[in-house]
Amino acid sequence: MDLKNDRAAWLKGGNARCSVLPQLQPHPYRFVLLGAPGVGKGTQAKLLSEHFGACHLSTGDIFRCATGCFENGGPAPTMKLALAYMNRGKLVPDETVLSLIAERSRCLHCGGGFLLDGFPRTVAQAEALEKLLAQQGVRLDAVLSYELPRRKIIARLSGRRTCAKCKAVFHVESLPPKIDGICDNCGGQLVQRDDDRPAAVRTRLAAYNENADPVKKFYQRRNLLVSVEAVSMPQETFLRALEKLQETHGEFQPSSRCLSTL
Ligand code: AMP
Repeated sequence: MDLKNDRAAWLKGGNARCSVLPQLQPHPYRFVLLGAPGVGKGTQAKLLSEHFGACHLSTGDIFRCATGCFENGGPAPTMKLALAYMNRGKLVPDETVLSLIAERSRCLHCGGGFLLDGFPRTVAQAEALEKLLAQQGVRLDAVLSYELPRRKIIARLSGRRTCAKCKAVFHVESLPPKIDGICDNCGGQLVQRDDDRPAAVRTRLAAYNENADPVKKFYQRRNLLVSVEAVSMPQETFLRALEKLQETHGEFQPSSRCLSTL
């Protein structure tokens, strides 16, 4: 059986249902992942998701999906506007993001738990999430903040290449494909995301820096913040995060049956 959760409810919103739900967890863990673009949050989310069985809820993925997933007539006008912000490396306005999250609020009490990646990015979003979670009767377990020096972030983002077909991620230096420009997994063409181009990268980092500290302080005050150095290989960063979680929050139980990747 394919255990892959397609995250349809999250990615498409509306009435969309996931064809395979994450396995019900005895304790569904709920984490927020913070970190500058390029810090490797997506990869960490995948590893954490396998470990805890929690669903990877990325707001960036909602927007990327909207560029290709809408079968009829393309994205709705609000979404088109949001994509224009994204393609310039700018943050999508809070109001738009919050309405997308509200539409997907059932994902927040999913029995598998969740890993919010890319949301919240501003204090207004963090406050809105807090309210929404209280309404849903669920609590966050921890907020993991991944830290990496700026020059390493720029090197990671500008060398990143993504498969246009299956979305696999490569890097021109640290993870090159076997054949230049071609995806190892499906033979699709590797492209540079518009928002990974140098001008957009600079804007994205500026947007992150402006908002990151207040958001971190917000969670620090609530005793939820766990900082993780993200300079090493993904697996090492992942183990470091687990150690930090145990140090600060006690024992975290892995999923009884790990899901395959999302
Ligand atoms: P990410 O994949 O998380 O780096 O997100 C890609 C882009 O989507 C960002 O650069 C923003 O334009 C947009 N985006 C994703 N999440 C948010 C958010 N919570 N608030 C505003 N914009 C967002």
